[in-house]
Amino acid sequence: MIQDIAPHRYDNTYRQETPKPEDPVFCVQRGRILLRETGVKNRLEIPAAGEFTGWADGLSEQAVYLFALDGRPYFLLETEKEETPDPALVWKKSQDIRAMEPMHLAFAAITALQLARWRESRRFCGRCGHRTEHSRTERALVCPACGLTEYPKISPAIIVAVTDGNRLLMSRYVTARSAYRGYALIAGFVEIGETFEETVRREVMEEVGLRVKNIRYFKSQPWAFTDTEMIGFFADLDGEDTIRLQEDELSEAGWYEREEIPDETHIISVGSELKMRFKYGPDWERILREKYGPAAG
Ligand SMILES: [Zn+2]
Repeated sequence: MIQDIAPHRYDNTYRQETPKPEDPVFCVQRGRILLRETGVKNRLEIPAAGEFTGWADGLSEQAVYLFALDGRPYFLLETEKEETPDPALVWKKSQDIRAMEPMHLAFAAITALQLARWRESRRFCGRCGHRTEHSRTERALVCPACGLTEYPKISPAIIVAVTDGNRLLMSRYVTARSAYRGYALIAGFVEIGETFEETVRREVMEEVGLRVKNIRYFKSQPWAFTDTEMIGFFADLDGEDTIRLQEDELSEAGWYEREEIPDETHIISVGSELKMRFKYGPDWERILREKYGPAAG
């Protein structure tokens, strides 16, 4: 998954730091991020602070410390400029980052975009309307007038692999609801007052009209693309297997035998891992690597 970056190390301890010329900077403008194209497909590089000299005034005051990766600090620079300091630096959308390599830098880039989105939406205090400021002690925006503190937005959502013996329930989203065109699992945001298990039961009932039992936690995943923390589960079908589709959300859903589940070789999401774990069992990574080579899984 995109956050599984070992042996690289992500450290989100908050620090007060200003960038040195060699430190990487994520320059963000309206949901897009400035990355260097290398000529190799999907391989993108992060520019260094020194490359913005003369392009961004007062970079060291403007740049916001984000996190460290392998001990190196990463910074955020927010801009309104359209032109870039170097023709090889190109504005990239979050979809471009899904396939970005290497994956530890894709994880850093998408996390930076999430933080930029949060800062943009909290520029003014939601309680009194005053302009917010960055906290000096933690990763938070603080209102200097009334003291309201806002932390990065993270919305919990569940994703569940509903199984019935050798069969897995998979669906496709309607085009207007999601850009993702592959087979998906049932997923949805946790609503107020719910436990994760209640969200699982409600979403499965709402989307496909089925009951589930034996809900088992699998793994969780920060999913910065939608400001989400995904909580992955397995669950067994309980009773009747006839699907009643929620048509405004899903275009199709059905039961698929293990052998019918398409292999996935670039596993960035917990949804993909749930599918491969069901199809191949606990050895899924080794099996995919034997079939598709060392880069798979
Ligand atoms: Zn306020």
